[in-house]
Amino acid sequence: MIKINKAIFDSRLVKILKDLAWNKKPKEQYAWLLGKHDSNNAYIYDLIYDSQAVQTNTRVEPNADYFIKSYKQKQRLLPDTCLRILSWFHTHPINNPSEIDIKSQEDFRKIYQPSFMTFINYNNLDMKCFDVINGKAIEIPYETGFIPDDKKRKS
Ligand SMILES: [Zn+2]
Repeated sequence: MIKINKAIFDSRLVKILKDLAWNKKPKEQYAWLLGKHDSNNAYIYDLIYDSQAVQTNTRVEPNADYFIKSYKQKQRLLPDTCLRILSWFHTHPINNPSEIDIKSQEDFRKIYQPSFMTFINYNNLDMKCFDVINGKAIEIPYETGFIPDDKKRKS
């Protein structure tokens, strides 16, 4: 089983996620985060924002059909780019994952390996990443920086 030890986010992407969290609060937002990984690190530099998600003040429910359509579209537009799904993203009002988030990540990692969840507290714009192992949320450290284009190509 591959495990991500650290995530590196393109700083431009983090700005997009924080703007989304701030501008749409208190409605929870959902996105899939894309990039590539090596044996240790995940490099996150693209997203599919789920504009069709069911958004309320207490939960967000993704729209899978919309995702599949958007993902295929992206693959056609950027054929030489690595577009692996590595994380799901949402916004919510606290700094910790909820019980439902922990369950969701358990389900997510059954399909996407390796993977982790990312969320932003829309009240203070703190961003956090977690994986869930044996029912326990484990924080994944991350840094933000510029990810050069050659890192984004298929290897
Ligand atoms: Zn949550």
